[in-house]
Amino acid sequence: MSQASDSTDLSARLAAVDESIAAAARRAGRDPSSITRIVVTKFHPASLIRELHSCGVRDVGENRQQELSAKTAETADLGELRWHFVGQAQTKKARAIRQSAAVVHSVDRERLADAFERVADDDRLLDVLMQVNLTDDEGRGGVNPDGIESLAEHIAGLSTLRLRGIMAVAPLDEEPARAFARLHGMAQQLLTVVPDADWISAGMTADFVEAINAGATHLRIGSAITGSRPDRG
Ligand SMILES: *Cc1c(COP(=O)(O)O)cnc(C)c1O
Repeated sequence: MSQASDSTDLSARLAAVDESIAAAARRAGRDPSSITRIVVTKFHPASLIRELHSCGVRDVGENRQQELSAKTAETADLGELRWHFVGQAQTKKARAIRQSAAVVHSVDRERLADAFERVADDDRLLDVLMQVNLTDDEGRGGVNPDGIESLAEHIAGLSTLRLRGIMAVAPLDEEPARAFARLHGMAQQLLTVVPDADWISAGMTADFVEAINAGATHLRIGSAITGSRPDRG
């Protein structure tokens, strides 16, 4: 397939996803403009981000620090892009992530929040979301639901972080609608601690409609827009 038809496909897929988002929002009685669609570009080259930018995309996401840092550098001339870090973060990568990302969706422990606080080197606040684990598997990313309030209080006490809301990935072995209903309850619980932390980051290619029904404000969509991932290496 030629490059030209590839980018036509990209804008067509983007338009189709945005149409589905708007339709689902209206069915749920929600204003589509209250929902931010983040395009997750992992494994795809910086050239794809340029094409997305020319289609009007401004919110992009990565789940690994190296790719995030490389692609922000390669697209620095574009301006206006908001980079969202959505993957599990190691404390030793906090500085590099903070240099590139405007929003970190995956703060799930005090040590990680402290690491982001320590590496602040200007007055810019870092927007963060607390990732919660919706599975029983402790090895998955995210704080356990019973730790939400204490982690929220901890983050709220840090002066260079701004806690914006909650984030989760649907478990593989549960219906997304059920899991996201639980997440919605946890979001209400977070609001009792930090009343303006009202973002809910949930919903990927396979489950963004269910996420919209459960009140998601930020969708993280990859393959439905970018197409299948290119072979790596
Ligand atoms: C890759 C990724 C997404 C997007 O996944 P798709 O199924 O391709 O839409 C969303 N969130 C996180 C945390 C991811 O790693």
